[in-house]
Amino acid sequence: MNPDRYQEIVKEIKPYGACLVAVSKTRPASDISGLYSLGQRIFGENKAQEMTDKYEALPKDINWHLIGHLQTNKVKYIAPFVALIHSVDSLRLLEEINKHAQKHSRIIPCLLQVYIAREETKFGLDKSELTELLSSSDYQSLKNIQIHGLMGMATNTEDTGQIEKEFKSLKDLFDNLQKQYFSDKAYFKELSMGMSSDYRLALKHGATLIRIGSDIFGSRS
Ligand SMILES: *Cc1c(COP(=O)(O)O)cnc(C)c1O
Repeated sequence: MNPDRYQEIVKEIKPYGACLVAVSKTRPASDISGLYSLGQRIFGENKAQEMTDKYEALPKDINWHLIGHLQTNKVKYIAPFVALIHSVDSLRLLEEINKHAQKHSRIIPCLLQVYIAREETKFGLDKSELTELLSSSDYQSLKNIQIHGLMGMATNTEDTGQIEKEFKSLKDLFDNLQKQYFSDKAYFKELSMGMSSDYRLALKHGATLIRIGSDIFGSRS
């Protein structure tokens, strides 16, 4: 864990009003405690089980964000405590989250993950799937989830022009959906984009949440 680098990033994002999600996947609880003692409260994990184990071991005022692909059969583990799910990519998953949120008398905030990259391996909805989801009566009947915004991952490339194009398209989509579907919903305000390699470009294009792991914790083995 690199406390100096952490403080630099916090300072760097402050003028943008964005929030840092410290991506702690694969890191031991001691790394998280170290950053917690410097004031960090939002941590991102990509596996439901790992996040649940860490939730149980660590202070209860941590906000746990699920940032990785979520299988419907894992929703039950995180439903009692998850603060934000960044990676919702289907109506079926949203319905499952709603069901478990209801059991715990919660409203679970979610982001819709949008496919913006040029890589087949990445998850997410495309523009027409998003519109279809948001227009459907099935979605509109869900009372225990709230869509707080969008999440996207840019292509893993050195081509900064390409990355900027992808972030810009996500921001444009965010603005359009906000107007079309959420004009009376103040909670639709989060744009989760940018990781260690490209967070500056993401901030420039309107990210409100940036997800940084290796830049703070070192490279993952
Ligand atoms: C691992 C991960 C990150 C952080 O990646 P770094 O390159 O370590 O900053 C961000 N977002 C998602 C969805 C991830 O899975």
